[in-house]
Formats: sequence, C-alpha cells, structure tokens
Amino acid sequence: MQLSPAVQTLKPSATIAAAAKAKALKSKGVTVYDFTLGEPDFHTPEHIQAAARAAMQAGHTHYTPSGGIPELKKAICAAYERDYGLHYEPNQVVVSNGAKHSIHNVLTALCGPGDEVIIPAPYWVSYSALVELTGATPVIVETTEASGFRLSAAQFDAAITPRTRLLLLNSPCNPTGTTYAVAQLEALAETARRRNVLVCSDEIYEKLLYTDEPFRSFSTLLGGIADRTIIISGVSKAYAMTGWRIGWTLAPVELTAAMDNLQSQETSNPCSLSQYAALAALNGPQDCVETMRQEFARRREYVLKRVRGLKQVSIAEPGGAFYAFFNVSRHFGKPLGQGRQAMANATEFCAALLEESHVALVSGDAFGAPGYVRLSFATNLEMLQAGFDRIEQFLG
Ligand code: PMP
Ligand code: GLU
Repeated sequence: MQLSPAVQTLKPSATIAAAAKAKALKSKGVTVYDFTLGEPDFHTPEHIQAAARAAMQAGHTHYTPSGGIPELKKAICAAYERDYGLHYEPNQVVVSNGAKHSIHNVLTALCGPGDEVIIPAPYWVSYSALVELTGATPVIVETTEASGFRLSAAQFDAAITPRTRLLLLNSPCNPTGTTYAVAQLEALAETARRRNVLVCSDEIYEKLLYTDEPFRSFSTLLGGIADRTIIISGVSKAYAMTGWRIGWTLAPVELTAAMDNLQSQETSNPCSLSQYAALAALNGPQDCVETMRQEFARRREYVLKRVRGLKQVSIAEPGGAFYAFFNVSRHFGKPLGQGRQAMANATEFCAALLEESHVALVSGDAFGAPGYVRLSFATNLEMLQAGFDRIEQFLG
C-alpha cells in the first residue's frame, strides 16, 4: 500500500509509545513503576461527571455546532475575564477534541510548505510532528539547563526569517516544567510585536504552578499583543479530564472562523457530552483544581529531593506542570556495574532502566533534548518512592 509522504515520515508520539511499552510489561504481570504519561491520576471530580450524565439524560446526544456549544464558549470567555481580565467574544473561541487537536487545527489553518514555526527545545513531542504534518518546517531553538530552559528574546529574534509564521511557546512547559518570569515573557511579546510574528501560547498547565508569581496569559502582556496571540488550553490537566478530550483556542476571529470551517469538515464537532462536562468544570466550584495542585506540589517537593540525591544527575527546578526533567548524560559511556553495557544516550538509558529496574521514563531524545529523561509525577507518592529507590539502585 502506498502511504502518503506525510505519514510515511510521521513518528508515533513518543510519550504514548513509552506508556504503551510500560503497559505491555504490566500485562505480563510485572510490577512497573510507570512515570511516562503526563496525565493526572485523579478521577474527574464528581460534579463534572454528574453534569455529563445529566446531559446524556437531557438528550444532548446529537451533533453540536462545529466549534462548540454556545454555553461553553461563553463560559470559556467568562473564565478568562474572571481569571486574567481578558476580554474575548464567543466567536473568538473554538472548542476542539483536546488541546492537541486545537494545536493541530491552528497549525493547519496557518501553515503550509515553505513556512517556518519556531519551537524552543526541549519541546513537547507533538509540536514538531504537528508542524511537519502541515508541510511547514519546525525551527528548533535550543535552550540551556543553565537558563532554566528559557528562550531569550535575543534567541527568538535571531530565529525569525521572512518565512516565520509563529512561535510555539509553552509555559509552564512540558517536558521541563519551566515557567517564565513576566519580564521574560514581555521581552518575547515585544519581539513578536516588533517583528510581526504570531505567538501560539500553549497554556494547558496554567493552573498547575508552584511559584509565587501568578500565571500571566500571553495575551495580557503588552498592548495589542492579543491580536498576535493564539491561546491554547483545555480541561485535561487542571480538571483531570484527559479522556474527555476537550481543548480550546482563543484567537482573532479570522483564525477562529477558519478553524471552525476546518472542524466542520474534519470532525463535525467535539463530543457533545464532554462539552457539557467541561461547562460544569468551568462554571462549577474551583476548589478541586487547587486541591489537586496542592497534591502535585507535595509530589514535586518529594521528587526534587530524590532527584537531588541521585548521583551525577542535575535538574532545573520545574515551576509548573507535573514533570521532572533531569540530566543523566554524565552516566553515558560508562558501564554501570558488572556485566552491564555502557549506555550511549537517553533512549538506551530508558530502555535499560525499564528492562532492569522496571521503571518507565520518557527519553529526552523525543523532546529535542538528548541527555535528559522525563519523569511524570502525576502519580502517587508510594509509587514515586518505590520508583526512586529503584532508580537509585540502578545508578548505584
Ligand atoms: N500541550 C501540552 C504541552 C501537553 O503536554 C499536552 C498533553 N496532554 C497537550 C497540549 C494536549 O492536551 P490534551 O489532552 O487536551 O489534548
Ligand atoms: N501530554 C501528555 C504527555 O506528554 C500526554 C500524552 C500525549 O498526548 O503526548 O505525556
């Protein structure tokens, strides 16, 4: 069978592939310490589940408008007004099947062959793949552990060419947990405005912050920057709703209208029941978000303590999200004990750790950061404790 060039070169999502590998081992009866997937281990809060059940009983089981039900679009606008003082009209909102789908549709609506999209590395696995699917070229700009993996305005400026369509920014970041200070974001926004480049700000981890500075949505940074900003977010992470598949885009209406068209052809609409659940998430009590954040904060403290106790390993502190991204490159090229082969890179490191110690991490190679591994701490403390004991043994 002749496959299209686009899918012939498409790699499977490395995070999902790593999780599948861990699951396959589990299905053989092995106890696996699985820190691969970035998804909250909590159940979706009860009042949100109840809203979905009620929606089903009320007969909301039909197609909806392609860009989302009006109530949800209104609720999203109200949430941005409430949380950040941002004013968006419902026609500037498109609801999609998860934030991943939102990003895909933004890129599909804006990019094509010959275009360039600037992506700071380390970056979430799907960014480069989704850019490539459009025929555009990802322009990867490396950041350093010493800088806390932050893209500087000078680096951004230097990467811009006449073909640049947008910067794909993610704060708090997957895989590093990096958050930017307001001044750093303002410098990026100033560059975007001066060089007339769009910024797609993936704010999916906005509610999962461990720093003192409150979250600042990119659209709030400078006068006029909202006209150049595309905000991506959703309910997956903040409300423990990964399986419901609801994400959204806030953008100038030119773009949201095009995305609406696109969705009407490709998926008709996001799942009706999930939209009612997301509506309950946004309009309902918000204390569930804070309760989960506090639990993630406790796990983060624990994880940082354990990572700092690992031999020859370093980490830039995550300010948000639920990932620890640590540097294991000092272990490469040296045999770790008798009868063991030296590991050449992070992919071999993860493979050996899984095989020998049954601990599953994701290799930094997938995130454009060779030498690093990602551990998701969206899992309970007992599991983290046992997992770190094993990583310690592995390195010892
Ligand atoms: N952006 C980032 C940075 C992510 O880590 C993820 C992972 N879930 C997404 C977007 C997509 O989220 P969703 O589950 O809503 O598709
Ligand atoms: N975003 C999560 C992760 O990075 C979920 C898996 C995925 O969609 O890639 O693990």
